[in-house]
Amino acid sequence: MPKLQVALYWAASCGGCEIATLAIGDKILKLAEVADIVFWPVAIDAKYADVEKMTDKSIDVCLFNGAIRNSENEHLAKLLRQKSKIMIAYGSCAVEGCIPGLANFFNASMILDNTYLDTASTDNAGKTIPQTKVSIPEGELDLPEFYNTVKTLAQTVDVDYFIPGCPPEERTTWLALEALISGKLPPKGTVIAHPAQAVCNDCPRVKHEKKIKAFHRPYEIIPEPDKCLLEQGLLCYGVATRGGCGAPCPQANMPCTGCYGPVEGVRDQGSHFLTALASIIDATEPEEIEKILDGIVDPAGTFYRYSLPDAMINRARIKP
Ligand code: SF4
Ligand code: SF4
Repeated sequence: MPKLQVALYWAASCGGCEIATLAIGDKILKLAEVADIVFWPVAIDAKYADVEKMTDKSIDVCLFNGAIRNSENEHLAKLLRQKSKIMIAYGSCAVEGCIPGLANFFNASMILDNTYLDTASTDNAGKTIPQTKVSIPEGELDLPEFYNTVKTLAQTVDVDYFIPGCPPEERTTWLALEALISGKLPPKGTVIAHPAQAVCNDCPRVKHEKKIKAFHRPYEIIPEPDKCLLEQGLLCYGVATRGGCGAPCPQANMPCTGCYGPVEGVRDQGSHFLTALASIIDATEPEEIEKILDGIVDPAGTFYRYSLPDAMINRARIKP
């Protein structure tokens, strides 16, 4: 049987998903028996031109991690889509935009000005910011265009499957690879993860009726080891997050921050969590409610930490 031809690519992301693919440990030997990696810039020396020369659909599966932040990301997403039979959005940045997507609270010129002109440690007397074309004695150099809005992979090309997580847990990566190796693939569009309605379903912490009098940041309290973190006032996103990761964060005393995305059937993860919180705040007077909500220090970054580009309102409107 011919080996699977596999490509991996890293667009706008931190690189954690590249490492997460290696977290499958010795199962990588099983993968090596059945698959050849034909393109993986972080690990093997293959150029974009090598991909351009490939026959269309000659790659069996592409694991694409990272959001679409610039024209290079977009070009590679389109090129790899053209060359691949199966395109998988691997990890939260590709699936929903994730941390790079928080840039959608600003526009491109605000980010470039802040990075290259305004920071206290910047010494840039010539006020130089990156340009898409730069002439030097040896010729003209091209840089990717920095886009105004971060997009998900599915907002850019047709995507066959989604693997959630920041980064995906090893068990999730292997679930997807096993399906690919066996050829027993779920319907197109499936989010591949172990079935569990929400992270709370995987979480062994004891749950009672939730009534919140105050929110705390993780460094402010030492949580009880067995009780639900949300009931202790920590903003644990488990109620509004797809399960399947095994709930490693609440088991390590850290609240779930929501990286597996919305639960099945929910369109907007942030508003779902907001609604869940609204139902458990233990106050009736507006001033008291206001005081409790003041404990949520960064509401936009809390509710849309991973999902802003994929949210129903996916960027800030900024007056010119
Ligand atoms: Fe566990 Fe968090 Fe859900 Fe509580 S809210 S049960 S700590 S995942
Ligand atoms: Fe991601 Fe939450 Fe699971 Fe942690 S517990 S891996 S933040 S989904």
